[in-house]
Amino acid sequence: MSEILVLVEHADGDVKKVTLELLTLARSLGEPSAVWAGPGYTDAAKAKLAEYGAGKIYVAESEEIAGYVVAPKAELLAKLVSDASPAAVLVAATAEGKEIAGRLAIKTDSGVITDAVGLGEGFVADQSIFGGGVNVRSRVTKGTPIVAVRPNSTAPVAEPGAGAEEKVEIALSDAARGAKVVERVKQERGARPELTEAAIVVSGGRGVGSGENFSIIEKLADSLGAAVGASRAATDAGWYPHQFQVGQTGKTVSPQLYVAAGISGAIQHRAGMQTSKTIVVINKDSEAPIFEIADFGVVGDLFQVVPQLTEEIEKRK
Ligand SMILES: Cc1cc2nc3c(=O)[nH]c(=O)nc-3n(C[C@H](O)[C@H](O)[C@H](O)COP(=O)(O)OP(=O)(O)OC[C@H]3O[C@@H](n4cnc5c(N)ncnc54)[C@H](O)[C@@H]3O)c2cc1C
Repeated sequence: MSEILVLVEHADGDVKKVTLELLTLARSLGEPSAVWAGPGYTDAAKAKLAEYGAGKIYVAESEEIAGYVVAPKAELLAKLVSDASPAAVLVAATAEGKEIAGRLAIKTDSGVITDAVGLGEGFVADQSIFGGGVNVRSRVTKGTPIVAVRPNSTAPVAEPGAGAEEKVEIALSDAARGAKVVERVKQERGARPELTEAAIVVSGGRGVGSGENFSIIEKLADSLGAAVGASRAATDAGWYPHQFQVGQTGKTVSPQLYVAAGISGAIQHRAGMQTSKTIVVINKDSEAPIFEIADFGVVGDLFQVVPQLTEEIEKRK
């Protein structure tokens, strides 16, 4: 079976969920090989990658890889593409992943597809473009297909692989040392999952009415183990921080479940959540455009519906 490289996303030695999704996807198309870039590799990480099907794990632990911005990872992947001639390279469609994908495409003279929400036979990728208005199927026609896949595009399923380790030494070029990381500041986060990676997102919009009222959105999110999102109307009003804005000028999310409360469904909001697998809408206006993309809609006052929903979920735990 043909080898497919999967760039591992990791933090503090933990393999991120999106990597397990990419390994699952790669397994359906060939033999996945994980690529670990930077320090922090542990036995637990190795076990996790093998558990989800990595036949091989390329380990490039050099401190230098993490010491410079993005470019070393693209250089590492380019070396592996040249040495191993894989059938494809998969990265997560995060801001960093997409930049790596673009750089790798230039280095290997290959085509690149970003923001894929699915990948099938022949590396044909599904994309949702123009604010979610058009679905496209595309395929790389030149070089090694490089595909950046959105988090939550596939449910991760464990199926053990050999996990054979191969150490990789890389001598970085001067160009890869162009931008040095001088400081890393860990963002303080609560117990909630990261917005773009969360399997469930609960978002509130103008209908929530105030910053204080966002606590009912947070309570529902916490009952589901979800991340909290917001429409631009809510973030512009200062009710919720901008980093949680979902949409064209905010974050793109593609969770298994997206709950939109008090959000009308403007095209710019849809652009950031339309590829969610199941969309639940709570809105008091039955004509709100967001109902057009809802799998399940509740016409009602969110101040009544959301607390009742939270209570019901808590009861069933
Ligand atoms: C260039 C550009 C980029 C943009 N980028 C983004 C973006 O990234 N993300 C984004 O979200 N928007 C973005 N916007 C803004 C977008 O056009 C909308 O203005 C915005 O999404 C509206 O937010 P909303 O749905 O919360 O508010 P509204 O459109 O005002 O809708 C509020 C909804 O709440 C409902 N409601 C009110 N009270 C209740 C209640 N008690 N119970 C239940 N329902 C209730 C109403 O019926 C209504 O449907 C952008 C706009 C532009 C021009």
